[in-house]
Amino acid sequence: MSEVCVIGVGHVGLITAVCLAKLGHSVIGVDKNAERIDQLRRGQCPFYEPGLEDLLDEGLQRGRLSFSQRLSDGIVGSEIIFICVGTPAVADGRADMSQVEEAARAVAQHMTGYKLIVEKSTVPVKTSQWIKRTIGLLNRRGVEFDVASNPEFLREGSAIHDFMHPDRIVIGVESERAKQLMLRLYEGFDCPILVTDISTAEIIKHASNSFLALKISYINMIADLCERAGADVRMVAEGMGYDARIGRAFLDAGVGYGGSCFPKDVKAFAALAEELGVDFGLLREVDRINEGRIERLMAKLREALWVLNGKQIGILGLAFKPDTDDIREAPSARLIERLLRETDVRMKLYDVKAMSAMRELYPPDERLAYVDSPYEAARDAEAIVILTEWDEFKKLDLVKLKSVMRTPIIVDGRNIFEPDHMQELGFEYYCMGRKNIRNHF
Ligand code: NAD
Repeated sequence: MSEVCVIGVGHVGLITAVCLAKLGHSVIGVDKNAERIDQLRRGQCPFYEPGLEDLLDEGLQRGRLSFSQRLSDGIVGSEIIFICVGTPAVADGRADMSQVEEAARAVAQHMTGYKLIVEKSTVPVKTSQWIKRTIGLLNRRGVEFDVASNPEFLREGSAIHDFMHPDRIVIGVESERAKQLMLRLYEGFDCPILVTDISTAEIIKHASNSFLALKISYINMIADLCERAGADVRMVAEGMGYDARIGRAFLDAGVGYGGSCFPKDVKAFAALAEELGVDFGLLREVDRINEGRIERLMAKLREALWVLNGKQIGILGLAFKPDTDDIREAPSARLIERLLRETDVRMKLYDVKAMSAMRELYPPDERLAYVDSPYEAARDAEAIVILTEWDEFKKLDLVKLKSVMRTPIIVDGRNIFEPDHMQELGFEYYCMGRKNIRNHF
């Protein structure tokens, strides 16, 4: 079993730490966020992720998992060090690598024996060389070390399952020692393990995320086309998806992708291509189409309500996707921002898990109320907007919902209901790329 340090215990690092501990490794998670470390030591999860609390508890109880705010605590006793810090986008779309550099400098400062430093954060190709250079320059004692890339493909909301049952594990290495250490770490995993050079591993991650984002932007344009042509994007996606070369996944039309990965990774990959002199305009288009989805939603709201000023709207779904409380780059935040800036509408907001995160971003005031059920969000509303496809919303009592609304209008950015059924129930129903139900025109 290996001695592992995880630097940065956020959505990726914490899952990595608890899962490696579950597999029997001895893991120490370090983070500069003192409050987070205190919480974790008490067995409290800093964010919502199904199954996380149990694994955290188990790791702590068995003594395989510990946490510290001091990087030296983690680095000195560990052979393998995962870098799981953030790589947010800067204004021109490139990835901000300052957290990665800071982590690499800390490793150099505290390492006393051989270390394998593994990038798990999503980073631009050649980052490993910068890490190597940074550590090399500061490594006055001449301690041996290797750098490896092991990109993470987990999805928030099913992160533990994804980590434990991955489609593949990608390992980019440049020494036999690093390769053996990584293979030992993942011993027993029943999936293809692809061992490559480091640049290839780094590109696999950016290429995968950008391709998935491309599928979403593609189907969103097909949705707009379907609407103009009177066709149904759901059926188009189904018809395309049966083709094994295409696949049905990531062909759900809607308000576009959000979250902490796709928006920044597409931008970063495009910026990287430009830096390397490769004309990858396709990626800029993917991003442009996604940015345009909120405009599309605003147009639908105007189509539904004519004048927005003076209206009350219920917003169902704040998380960027179901089963998470993450609102980073969520379409909900972008819509709320625009409605606050461009109109005087009043909003009642509801989400299954992401209420407190959104409350921090947009504190309640006379125009923004946080309510504790979808029916409260609907009460006296002139329209409801659905932005996250939570199961709870799919199971709503629509008759009850309609009875508390001022006017029965739903703008569904996630296509969770059947237009014909909504018509039978007497709703006006605006969806994405399917039949819109408009009764009084
Ligand atoms: P996050 O913001 O949730 O967590 C990052 C953590 O790193 C924070 O807790 C922060 O305090 C800590 N940190 C930053 N600098 C540090 C330092 N110098 N020393 C110690 N701790 C430090 O980010 P995340 O969502 O976990 O993403 C991390 C990386 O993984 C990103 O590159 C992201 O693109 C990638 N990734 C994310 C996902 C996802 O679903 N969130 C999936 C795959 C890959």
